[in-house]
Amino acid sequence: MDLLTLLLNNKIGLENKIENNVCFPPTIESTWLAEGVLQLLPQEQQPSSPEKIPDTLIISAGIHGNETAPVEILTRIVSQLEQGSLPLQHNLLLVFGNLPAMREGKRYLDHDLNRLFGGRYQQLPLAKESNRARVLESVIRQFFNQPAVMASAQRRHLDLHTAIRGSCHEQFALLPYQTREYAADFLQWLDDSNIDALVFHNTGGGTFSQFTSEHFNADSCTLEIGKALPFGQNDLARFRNMTTALQDLIAGRSAIKRDKPALKRYRVVDAIIKQHASFQLNIPEETKNFTELPQGFEIARQQNQSWKITSPANFILFPNAHVAIGLRAGLLLEKYCC
Ligand SMILES: [Zn+2]
Repeated sequence: MDLLTLLLNNKIGLENKIENNVCFPPTIESTWLAEGVLQLLPQEQQPSSPEKIPDTLIISAGIHGNETAPVEILTRIVSQLEQGSLPLQHNLLLVFGNLPAMREGKRYLDHDLNRLFGGRYQQLPLAKESNRARVLESVIRQFFNQPAVMASAQRRHLDLHTAIRGSCHEQFALLPYQTREYAADFLQWLDDSNIDALVFHNTGGGTFSQFTSEHFNADSCTLEIGKALPFGQNDLARFRNMTTALQDLIAGRSAIKRDKPALKRYRVVDAIIKQHASFQLNIPEETKNFTELPQGFEIARQQNQSWKITSPANFILFPNAHVAIGLRAGLLLEKYCC
């Protein structure tokens, strides 16, 4: 049985990884830290760089349960590590985010998991996603507090997603708000990975990548890598650039180089928050991400509040009028040149 089948059938216990056929070469120490959270630590230095302390890398997928391509990419990477065809150079934590929602093919069951990090889960009654956010925060803390991981100079977290909505830029990264500089080598890796755009947040939030950036100084981002389809329907060739870029990070190499037009940069200027049942978005449901909006256009309104485009260069990201009250129904962006 492959790893994806084992995960979806709830067949991986914390204590019986070998019986479940997830078995790595002796150069890799593997531990399941929680359901769907696999820690892999290299057990010997690569001969090419005997002095180098391993970096630390978290790759997460399926924080939204219906976003399956990243989950399939991660399971493929796990089998390459198992077979020894992909060498492990760095400390690696692989997180399969929302397994109950994955099993039902849904984005989430009770609450959007990617809004609950940074302790926000505490404001909700105990439910599937609020408990999962608590577990994941605790596991991430445990992971970073180990001596082998604490010694590493570089920490990165890539949280992989796909979208149902079409997008003018098919692949893009959302960088969490942070007061420190964004690391140049991290931005270079994003550039090399052939994605189309970067979006810089202007304020903190409850995302997984914001949590690891803010609390553990990781170079983190949410990566939107394409279209969401059910398990088994993904054409993984469409994600080859990101798969290679992730393999580069894991193996400590740089096989991928940019061969597409220059990366576009945007920053968030405003968030449209739905706070009333009267809320309405004045754009068609199928409006693509990064659609440019004309100056003066009223993009959304609700009781006592209206959002108008005040700059000639505003773009809409993640428009969704159907979110729960209190949640974000869209982000307004401007182009960002530095
Ligand atoms: Zn998502």
